[in-house]
Amino acid sequence: MKISLSGLPHSSSAEDSKIERVKVLILGSGPAGLTAALYAARADTNPVVLAGIEFGGQVSLTYTVENYPGFPDGIGGQELVELFQKQAERFGARIEFDLATEVNLSERPFVVKAYSKTYLADTLIVATGATPNHLNVAGEKELTGKGVSYCATCDGWFFKDKDVIVVGGGDSALEESIFLTRYASQVTIVHRRDTLRAGAILQKRAMENPKISFLYNTIVTEIIGDESVKQVRLKNVQTGEEWLRDTDGVFIFIGHSPNTQLFEGQLEMDAGRYLVIDSLMQTNIPGVFAAGEAADPHFRQVITSAGMGAAAAMRAVHYLQEQMAEKVKA
Ligand SMILES: Cc1cc2nc3c(=O)[nH]c(=O)nc-3n(C[C@H](O)[C@H](O)[C@H](O)COP(=O)(O)OP(=O)(O)OC[C@H]3O[C@@H](n4cnc5c(N)ncnc54)[C@H](O)[C@@H]3O)c2cc1C
Repeated sequence: MKISLSGLPHSSSAEDSKIERVKVLILGSGPAGLTAALYAARADTNPVVLAGIEFGGQVSLTYTVENYPGFPDGIGGQELVELFQKQAERFGARIEFDLATEVNLSERPFVVKAYSKTYLADTLIVATGATPNHLNVAGEKELTGKGVSYCATCDGWFFKDKDVIVVGGGDSALEESIFLTRYASQVTIVHRRDTLRAGAILQKRAMENPKISFLYNTIVTEIIGDESVKQVRLKNVQTGEEWLRDTDGVFIFIGHSPNTQLFEGQLEMDAGRYLVIDSLMQTNIPGVFAAGEAADPHFRQVITSAGMGAAAAMRAVHYLQEQMAEKVKA
């Protein structure tokens, strides 16, 4: 390959193998990224997906998905990801198990550096999703992996016949609490408000589950342990009362933050650092599109993320066609 790389030095052939020109580069392998890959592949653009650290994204951490249409009995999160992958690859999408570490969107083609190579992309679809929020209390960091977890599907098994605390009051917190009752002897949901945010069906299921109990108006202020979690310090936010409670594990489901740090200063973001896109999935830079939770503070579902991925890919293909038509005219 001997193309002129604006912004990059001309390279020797050894270095050339570390540079690849692609029409459509997709960052992220969650529902948004893999659906974008399917649509871009079916438009014959040979898209490349950089999978990131978490292949399949958040849905791969989920035991079961009951609200993705087409699976009336529900489907396992990992199984759904495998189906997404298979379908995208069938039409020529290529998945690389690599991570974008640096982007330069002022260059054309866009320059995306990953660990194994640098990609020059005619269009870019950002589908980097979101990451679970941390409590940011003493002991949380030190005990992560030693009883503190953000994924019941990954770690629930380690808590057979144990007592666990779940922090949060939304859909994920209740869904994962119900899942944890397969293993744990007792699950206590600690929620800082006096009402839950989760949907009615989940609330009913959790409340009817004999292994689940609730502590409202309560926050975790410290997680205590050495080789493993032993206790949590709890505080009633109304009375100010604090107390210690023995437990074996703390599962934290208190929302997510978008994975958009890489684009700071280049792509427009809102106050919550979600990417700002128009109704055609375009960011402030023509040719750079975004989909899924990286650009969606509202819906945050598999189906909505997948839908955004499809739309972003359709617009990316349209953009490529327009660029081609302009070149032919010139
Ligand atoms: C515990 C839990 C249970 C859930 N249950 C349900 C449910 O039942 N039904 C439902 O509809 N939704 C559910 N959700 C939400 C759903 O999983 C998300 O809405 C969906 O996965 C978002 O898709 P996404 O593709 O936008 O992002 P994500 O799934 O967050 O994927 C982001 C991808 O980007 C990659 N990435 C990040 N940074 C980079 C980088 N620098 N370079 C390359 N790649 C990168 C990551 O590795 C990952 O592959 C659940 C979420 C959780 C956490």
